[in-house]
Order: sequence, then C-alpha cells, then structure tokens
Amino acid sequence: MAGEFGNPEVVQEEVDILLIGGGMACCGAAYEVVRWAEAAKAELGIDLKIKLVDKAALDRSGAVAQGLSAINTYIGPEQDPADYARMVSNDLMGITRDDLAYDLGRHVDESVHLFEEWGLPIWKVDENGERHDGSKGLPALKDGGKPVRSGKWQIMINGESYKWIVAEAAKKALGMDRIQERVFIVKLVNDKNDKNRIAGAVGFSVREHKVYVYKAKAILLAAGGCVNIFRPRSVGEGTGRAWYPVWNAGSTYAMAAEAGAELTMMENRFVPARFKDGYGPVGAWFLLFKAKAVNALGEVYMEKNKDLLNDYPPYGQAAVPASCLRNHLMLKEMKEGRGPIYMDTVTALAKLKETLSPREVKHLEAEAWEDFLDMCVGQCGIWVGENIEPDKKNSELMPTEPYLLGSHSGCCGIWVSGPEDVGAPTTEDHPEKDKIPAHLPQGWHWGYRSMTTVKGLFTAGDGVGASGHKFSSGSHAEGRIAAKAMVKYCIDHKDLKPELDTPVEQLVEEIYKPVRNFLQYKDYTTAIDVNPHYITPKMLQFRLQKIMDEYVAGVATYYTTNEHMLKVAEEKLEMLKEDAEKMRAKDLHELLRAWENYHRILTAEAHMKHIQFREETRYPGFYYRADKNFIDEKNWKCFVNSVYDKNTKKWTVFKRQHYDLVDKSK
Ligand code: FAD
Repeated sequence: MAGEFGNPEVVQEEVDILLIGGGMACCGAAYEVVRWAEAAKAELGIDLKIKLVDKAALDRSGAVAQGLSAINTYIGPEQDPADYARMVSNDLMGITRDDLAYDLGRHVDESVHLFEEWGLPIWKVDENGERHDGSKGLPALKDGGKPVRSGKWQIMINGESYKWIVAEAAKKALGMDRIQERVFIVKLVNDKNDKNRIAGAVGFSVREHKVYVYKAKAILLAAGGCVNIFRPRSVGEGTGRAWYPVWNAGSTYAMAAEAGAELTMMENRFVPARFKDGYGPVGAWFLLFKAKAVNALGEVYMEKNKDLLNDYPPYGQAAVPASCLRNHLMLKEMKEGRGPIYMDTVTALAKLKETLSPREVKHLEAEAWEDFLDMCVGQCGIWVGENIEPDKKNSELMPTEPYLLGSHSGCCGIWVSGPEDVGAPTTEDHPEKDKIPAHLPQGWHWGYRSMTTVKGLFTAGDGVGASGHKFSSGSHAEGRIAAKAMVKYCIDHKDLKPELDTPVEQLVEEIYKPVRNFLQYKDYTTAIDVNPHYITPKMLQFRLQKIMDEYVAGVATYYTTNEHMLKVAEEKLEMLKEDAEKMRAKDLHELLRAWENYHRILTAEAHMKHIQFREETRYPGFYYRADKNFIDEKNWKCFVNSVYDKNTKKWTVFKRQHYDLVDKSK
C-alpha cells in the first residue's frame, strides 16, 4: 500500500550489514565491504546482504559536498605514521588514542591512491620541476611525480568534484539496488535477547510517505559530526551558513548514545578561525602565501602574544602550537578591544611581488579564488559583494561558533576497539576503575577493529572519538578498515538472528509522533505556527542554540562558562528534552528537522555533561571554564567517557586512563 501523510507505508528489510551515512567513511566502507564479502562468498559460501542508507544523495552528501582543495592527511613514503600520531596528540592537547592514530597513519595513503586512480586530479611536480596543477594546460600526472604539499601532511588537489568521484566508486562497488538515498535514520534498535547488541535501525523517507525498518547483524554508523547546536554567528538572512555542514546534525553521537555505546571526549569541540561571514578556508593563505593574521593595529598577535603559549607546556611549545592555543592568542586581542582581526593579504601579496613576476602573482591570486570556489563558494560571494581585492584590502577573520566532530581538528566521538597489534593496555591499574560501568570492556582492543562497546555496532570518520586529524582521506580509510572488520564479525556470527527489542508498530508511532502532534492539534488555532499544543522544529532549535550559546561557552560569552552556568544549562536542557516530545511536523521536511533537532539535543547534552565533569580548561581558545582556568596534567590527563541510559535518560560520566604509545618527547 502506498503511504500518505500520517499513514506511512512500512518497508521492512533484513540485511547482514547496514551502512548508515553516505559520506567519506561510508563511501570507503561501501567500496571495501564488497571485496571482503565477495571473498566470503567464494571461500566460505556465505552470501552477505548489504545496504547503505543516506539521508541525502551520495554525490553531494556530507562534509565534502562542496568539494575540497586539499587532502589533509597524506603521509607519503618519506614520513612516519608515528610522527603523524605525535602531531595528532599535540594538536589535541595530549589526549588521543595513539593506537587509532597510528593505525590510520599506516593505512590512509591507500585511500588517496584510490582517489587518484578514480580520477581525482592531484597536483604534482614532475622530474623537471614543472607543476601539474591544471593551470598551464599540463595534464594531471597520474603515474609518477611528487604531490605538491601545502603543509607537512597535506597535498593539493583540484577537488571541486571530489565527492562525486568518491561516491561514484562506492556506487559502482555496491550497485544502486543496495543503496537507499533520502532515508533519514532516526534510531538504532537493540537486540531483544542481548541489550548490549545491535539488531537494527529505523528511519523514514524524506520524499515519500514510507518508514524503513532494517534488521542487521552489523551496522556502521557514520553520519558525520554535529553542527548548529550553538547559536551560529550567521543568523536571520544568513541562517544556514556555517563552516561544518549544517546537515551533520549529531545523528552519529545521539543514536550511538541511545543504543548504549560509550562516548569519549565529548567535551572537545572545534572552533575554527575562518574568513568572517563566508567561513572561507584560510589554509592556503597561511601555508601557500605565507600571510599573517593581525589585529586592527596591524600587530601580528601570534608573535606579540607568544609568551602565552608558555602557560601550556608542552602543547604550546611545539613547532606548530595546538589549534586551540592559536585561537587563545587571537581571543586576547578581541577581548581587549583590538579587533577586528584580519588576514593580512595585502602584505603577503606585496611580499610575493618582490620575488615573483606580476604574472606569477596573478596566478597565485587566482589560486586563492579557486580555493574558495573548490570548497566554499559563499566566500567568493562575500569578496565580490564587499569589493575585496586581496592585494588592496585585508579580509576579516573570526573564530566561528563551536562544532562537534571527530575527523577534522576535533576528537569527540565514540570509543572504539583499536588494532590488535598496537599496544592494548587495560585500565586495571586505573585509580578510578571501579567507576567504569562493569559491562564495558577494559583496554583499547576488545575484538573487532572499529567496533563500539555495543556488539555489532561500528563507526568511522567523525564517529570515532579520541583521534582526530583524519580528514577526508582518513575518514574514507577508516570506513574501509571498519568494513573489513564487519565482514569478519558477520562470518563469525553467521547463525546470529537479530531480533528487535521494540515492536515495529511502536517504532513507527515514535517516528511519526511529530506528525501526529500536528494533525491532532492543527485546527486549534488559525495561525499554523502558533499553538499551545506543539512547537515548531525551528523554534525549538532557537531555544537549544540560545541555551548552548549563553551557558555552555558559545560566542555570546567568548567561549566561557563555569560550574554555575553549566548547572543552569543542565536544567534547561532537561526541560527542552521534555518539550522536544511536542515538536510538530507539518510535512516530511519538518519531520526531518524535528528528528535532527532531537539528535542535536542529545549531543548537546553530552557535550555539556562532559565539560561539567572535566574540572579544568583542557582546550583554551575553544572553551574556558572560568572557575577552573588551567590545565591539570596530574588529575585530568585522561579520557572523559560516558554512557547514556535511554530508559532513565541519565548519563554516567567517568574517567579512562590515558597512555602514550608513541614517544612524545621526540
Ligand atoms: P560526512 O562526510 O560528513 O558524511 C556524513 C554522511 O551521513 C552524509 O552522507 C550525510 O548525508 C549522512 N547522514 C547524516 N545524518 C544521517 C542520518 N540520520 N541518516 C542517514 N544519513 C545521515 N578534509 C580534507 O581532507 N581536506 C580539507 O581541506 C578539508 N576541509 C574541510 C572543509 C570544510 C568546510 C569541511 C566541512 C570539511 C573539511 N574536511 C577536509 C573534512 C572532511 O570533509 C571530513 O573529515 C569527512 O567528510 C568526514 O567524513 P564522515 O564520513 O565522517 O562524514
């Protein structure tokens, strides 16, 4: 029966492996899973059923939707994955999982080589020193040549169509009959016979009146990071502009938490300093053009305030100080009234003119525009609209609203099992080990690589916590690593029959609750948006953003909070969670918005609880606990982890011991 609004068709499907998300991680998984599944069929006669669901369309979904101009993680034959793990650790103020970073470091290049094979143009220098970057009519150098680095770990690409290329390979591998686009997954379902095992997931089509119920043995949850829990700097006519993609709504963290998975480092956030209003990338200006950021008086604050870095050894004293500390030095200028902050493009280009011909400088300037066009078209609009010629007028920089993510320069996410061959310490000697809930595993390796603490539930990319700096290539590689482990899990559990712990009718009712709220009460008032019985998703989102902005260290307070503010936030979020039950959905689009909000609220709550628990300021420049404005290496150089109980709706937050597996003194 074809569904209608309020009365959806229910489609049920049983698979072995379900991939949730269609971004870099799931595209990597889609490519890899087929290879191992085919081997399982040929060698063991096990025929695995696989499905991928994405809330959007693979070609342009996720954080790479607009394209990118650099691959930020490429180790290359000349570098050591241990150095990469060292860099990740320092940038994230010392608390990362070396096992995960090292493992990623030794596998990531394979994904980059695949991208190139699939047609992604990578800038290369040939043996004559000629640069093949698409600008001089020289063809892309597929074989041979050296990639052009814009930083120690980055290489440049012509990447407007990056996501298309990666998605095409995923689609070819899986085939469209195993891909379901425009289905938003609302929740995971645990197993009736083992509440700590995954059994399926439910969602709805955002185009048709259909609810999808999947049963699966193994699920890869890789639905990106979380945006729009804080009031964004761009409001009103600018709403929807953000740096990380607005369609990453915390689904990964919220659904994992509700399924009982252990989260880690949810206090971490990323506050990038970007070109103001357009959120345009700054990397090319800093790295390629050697531009400096200055205050309104033209002073280079990274030099002027460099003594502040000594307050945070060793993280401030590294060759490249941690990202949050670079913000810390900028914020001092802003707080003390010496803003706006500018990228000094005028001086940078003038300096280049001293050594380069006018033609070469024009070429570089074109590259700066291309950098925006490749990954942030909106910034070009700002420059054009504001008559900005970078050799004549400097551009404002601004630290953005906070984002939660685990793949870029942040490390919040889910606690996953690491590789078996790279150190697997247990937490047995941990002084607070008794506070870790008993059902959770010890150590960093408890079975299948990339599996969470819920059996059969895997994650990758933004989902994996306590690592970070994986970026697009690393997320793809992590998806591939997880896919291989999922096939192994399915082979080892070939007789497992997943059974949902909740009846299908109840799941459908839950998903369609916002629609019911609307249909039941819509005639109570004459103005459709004003109603004492329901709240629109948009209004609810404003409420969430106001709470987070004002009490949980958003831009309103220069990223500052304290114990008392967090207490207020805690109460307000609890009430918001109650009121979220009253969201209305007048159409499928609003139903999507309602559930995105629900995921955001839970993610926001995790963020707040973790900041509350960690009694120090581990990330100055990203957030400050004014009442604990110091780093306490003795007591807090540890992971902060948590589990959520979906029945009591309560969080348990606890410490896990940190270890350095890679020598950090080098
Ligand atoms: P994503 O790629 O974001 O994919 C998430 C997927 O989940 C999407 O397909 C989405 O539609 C889907 N989804 C979300 N919720 C649901 C749901 N409930 N149900 C079903 N599907 C859902 N990397 C680099 O290497 N170099 C760079 O220069 C670089 N710059 C960046 C600049 C910007 C502005 C941004 C936003 C990112 C940048 N990155 C860069 C980082 C890179 O894009 C991410 O690290 C990577 O995309 C993360 O992969 P992922 O699979 O975890 O998430």
